[in-house]
Amino acid sequence: MTAAFQDPFTPPPGYRLRLPGPTEVPEAVRAALARPMINHRGPEFRAMLAATEALIRPVLGTANPVVFLAGSGTAAMEATLANILAPAERVLVASHGQFGERFAEIARSLGAQVDLVEFTWGEAPDPAVVAEKLREADYGALLVTHNESSTGAVADLAALGRLVQGTRTLLVTDSVSGLAGLEMRQDEWGVDVVVSASQKALMCPPGLGLISLSERARARVMRNEAMPRFFFDLRKALANAEKHETPFTPSVSHVAGLHVALTMIAAETLPKVLARHRRLADALRAGGAAMGLGEFTRAAHRSSTVVVFEVPARLQGGDIVRLMYQRHATVIAGARNRLQGKVIRIGVMGGHDEGTILTDLMQLESVLRELGHAVAPGAGVAAAAAFLGSLPPPMARAAE
Ligand SMILES: *Cc1c(COP(=O)(O)O)cnc(C)c1O
Repeated sequence: MTAAFQDPFTPPPGYRLRLPGPTEVPEAVRAALARPMINHRGPEFRAMLAATEALIRPVLGTANPVVFLAGSGTAAMEATLANILAPAERVLVASHGQFGERFAEIARSLGAQVDLVEFTWGEAPDPAVVAEKLREADYGALLVTHNESSTGAVADLAALGRLVQGTRTLLVTDSVSGLAGLEMRQDEWGVDVVVSASQKALMCPPGLGLISLSERARARVMRNEAMPRFFFDLRKALANAEKHETPFTPSVSHVAGLHVALTMIAAETLPKVLARHRRLADALRAGGAAMGLGEFTRAAHRSSTVVVFEVPARLQGGDIVRLMYQRHATVIAGARNRLQGKVIRIGVMGGHDEGTILTDLMQLESVLRELGHAVAPGAGVAAAAAFLGSLPPPMARAAE
């Protein structure tokens, strides 16, 4: 008799994935990922891809075609730039954190001429400053992170969209950590390209990137003077997308998972999904404040999908992250940049409810106390509960 197969990498009991991505994957999505493999050029996959595209359009606020790529968010960012930029073309990056810097690095490594306008971390790009920079040169594109996962700040895409209107500059945004947790109105706001990925508010495992391109962005892709590209050639991807196919083998299982995740979002309704993200992020903030955790992000720009707390003086962010895992099997994030040790970050992405946040706060309280930070017992949970209780009823659930 052979012993039952035991996977040594199954997460421990009670494991809670509370990162700003990857995020917890709902059971229904996990079940879809485990379905038997199907023909990637057969009618079933074509129908599934078409249905997935139809479901994601309202989340993007667009009528554009959407291209799905096997790869993480960064792959989709690189694919976008390789297609809309010609070699040595000038781009402006309005950066407000680590992911803005990454966008600039990708553009630079592809051979673009990059001008970087940097904004204080924790704030959003100031449209007036960006407008001034845009007048200084002929930019092929303006790149901006929608939701800066490193700082918890959200860019005003509507205002930035107005700046490029009537110019040849394309507005390109990385909404990897924003889409499906924050409002996105691509067409109304005049955003030419939205890049996102499966593993954040879209509730799927990492591995699927997506790109939504406006008509003028598509025209730019087609002009044949872009950078060298093969797998990432969006001319092929767009031509195939019309037939609900992909030029190369798609990540079939990820599309199956995404289809279920988007069906769940549609069932709850997008406005309720977005309101739930906002409510839970604000509840987490209220609880953190009651425990003496200052907010890193400036009030006017606070995200619904990631909460960034300052680490109290005399404590180290890494210790909080480590103890959350050792004591509670809960994974939260610190920082891997200039904020290292100074902030902790918790994701509010996907299918969470009030219980998730109250558990986060209870566990944080015990860890803070163990590290010698004085917290009145129950203060965080009480403040979050009071905040949630102050909201008008009903706190509608998807099942109702
Ligand atoms: C997670 C994330 C990405 C994507 O990173 P990958 O690891 O390549 O998927 C890009 N931008 C932002 C703002 C993110 O939060």
